[in-house]
Amino acid sequence: MIQTLHQVNTYDEELIYKAICASFADLDIAKDMRPGLKVVIKPNLVMAKSPDFPVTTHPTVIKAVVRWLKEHDITDITLAESSGGLYNAEYMNNVYRVCGMKQLEKELKLNDDFSAGTVHCQEGFTNHSFHIITPIIEADYIINICKLKTHAMTGYSGGIKNLFGTIPGLEKPQMHYLWPDIKDFSRMLLELARTVNPQLTVIDAIDAMEGNGPTGGTSHPLHLLLAARDFYTQDYFAAGLMGLNPMEIEMISQAVDAGLIKPDEIELKGDPIPENLTPFQVPDTKKLDFSFVLPGPLGKWFAKVAAKVLKSYPQLNKSLCVGCGKCAESCPAHIIQIKNRKAIFKKRGCISCFCCQEMCPMKAISVKKAL
Ligand code: SF4
Ligand code: SF4
Repeated sequence: MIQTLHQVNTYDEELIYKAICASFADLDIAKDMRPGLKVVIKPNLVMAKSPDFPVTTHPTVIKAVVRWLKEHDITDITLAESSGGLYNAEYMNNVYRVCGMKQLEKELKLNDDFSAGTVHCQEGFTNHSFHIITPIIEADYIINICKLKTHAMTGYSGGIKNLFGTIPGLEKPQMHYLWPDIKDFSRMLLELARTVNPQLTVIDAIDAMEGNGPTGGTSHPLHLLLAARDFYTQDYFAAGLMGLNPMEIEMISQAVDAGLIKPDEIELKGDPIPENLTPFQVPDTKKLDFSFVLPGPLGKWFAKVAAKVLKSYPQLNKSLCVGCGKCAESCPAHIIQIKNRKAIFKKRGCISCFCCQEMCPMKAISVKKAL
């Protein structure tokens, strides 16, 4: 498995383009290109946030990939994403504008078809089908361009997790409600990833996010651009660069068990791994995770008891809340109400998915342990 890594210190257009050209040459992407190929780029535009923050894929990375595609005579290029929140023209146009995607409108099409269709899964999957946004279904070739981040629920967000944004709008919180347990949710994510099956995944880790990701954390620049065809093994590799133990990330550990990840087969091309990497801060939800304190069955029992006692809940900082209602809109358990321009949370029924924290534009929601 070829994994490329390039040191890129800033979002400089030429530096990024050079790194993309070198990566795609090492991965031999040119051999996949043919006239009339319908390419869809799936970025991470989780919310309307300026590219100055490490929340969304930086437009310069997308621009470099599009430039490479155009130089290989690919003209049918669409950017398609379903952010957190609604999936319609008004909502997505605002996301495109704030995230700096409108400046790319001359180079590629910003998706304006907000329909979705049903895609049947392989035999043996727990899910029989997924409801997926139309451009992804109709693509000949999918390029997954994600942002490297820690994540309150899944611990890590890279190539696999980015594909959750192929589920239309508010169906995503409903899926959290269907699979509140991290093991079930991770299995669903893997089955979705295997169904969407992007041909190429680029990770924007020039600036990355640590702490309360995917939206409420802080900047932790790695100054790196990663690319691979095998996005499962790439996630294992990238989590390691963040100082995380990949086997503690449920979706990665399940992918290892399923034989999708082969860490021993990584062939690194480009630059060497920098020596001065510092570990990422983990989200508050993971700070009291004791699942690895004790080995074997005793550890599992201890982790189960600890998980119940130490279950995390969202906590509102009222002074920061502006009553926008984005948390209530995204709560799959429907336990948030807006009264007098402030959010009110019922504790009963909370499945600790932290969609509310993810969608809060004011960072007004933090994590509280039950104990
Ligand atoms: S908690 Fe955040 S998302 Fe919810 S209403 Fe307040 S500001 Fe909006
Ligand atoms: S209150 Fe927040 S964490 Fe609890 S179920 Fe709703 S969105 Fe998820």
